[in-house]
Amino acid sequence: MDGGIRILTGKNFLVIGGSRGIGRATVKKLAEQGANVTFTYKDNEAAAKELCGHAGKGSGKIECIQADAADSSTTSQVLETVRKDIAKLDGLVVNAGINRDSNLVTMDEDSWNEVISTNLTGTFHYLKSASNKFIRQGSGSIVCVSSITGLVGMPGIANYAASKAGQIALVRSLALEIARFNIRVNAVAPGFINTDMYQDLSEKFRQSTERHIPLGRAGDPEEVANVICFLLSDQASYITGSVITVDGGFAHKYY
Ligand code: NAD
Repeated sequence: MDGGIRILTGKNFLVIGGSRGIGRATVKKLAEQGANVTFTYKDNEAAAKELCGHAGKGSGKIECIQADAADSSTTSQVLETVRKDIAKLDGLVVNAGINRDSNLVTMDEDSWNEVISTNLTGTFHYLKSASNKFIRQGSGSIVCVSSITGLVGMPGIANYAASKAGQIALVRSLALEIARFNIRVNAVAPGFINTDMYQDLSEKFRQSTERHIPLGRAGDPEEVANVICFLLSDQASYITGSVITVDGGFAHKYY
């Protein structure tokens, strides 16, 4: 997946939440592999436009649409825009995610609702719309960016962990519902990945966490993007309903 073998040339993908971090790395990698990519973003238009201009010689096209993943009224508009521009959508990546951290005993309802509506309800709407399109096409591949917290839980982020566990349950259930239409649905569960979201955590927390990661460091966004691109590609043609941890071995210590 390093640009040597271009296994995604000419394919079309939609990435939800692609302006920075793991989403951005995924958009870039897909385009480098020759795929055309449309991604959504909520704010930071400058970063989104800059990424659109990134497509280099020989790479696929990159386009962006402003759309809040938590606003279900925009979901069908995004799919409709993509439908007008391209005849066939080969895959969807649901990456948009936020955190509003606190212990459960002091968590206010707004923090709960905000995280669930972006991470989980937003995922539901995109999975539903894209699945209907893929069923009509007779093919498609979906990858959700969940988290190891959805597998093992973690103190101080119960709302986030619940949203990520919910994504995994959605992926596993949907994979069984639509496998017969030649549609694969998988999740990646990143551990601690060096993005803005990770940098927002305190240095003390990051240092103490990294001591417990078997590979001894946080991951790079590109290391998650590699797995997402693999799952989207035909190289993963017999994988569905799977959750692949990309965490330096961290979660295996807990289950
Ligand atoms: P990030 O904050 O750097 O990027 C998040 C992306 O989601 C951005 O592109 C942002 O524009 C987009 N986004 C956020 N809210 C949105 C909304 N309402 N509508 C549309 N787009 C929205 O975060 P990241 O670290 O790159 O995380 C990406 C995904 O990976 C998230 O789902 C996150 O939960 C998950 N994840 C991250 C880590 C980590 O350590 N960084 C670990 C596990 C899982």
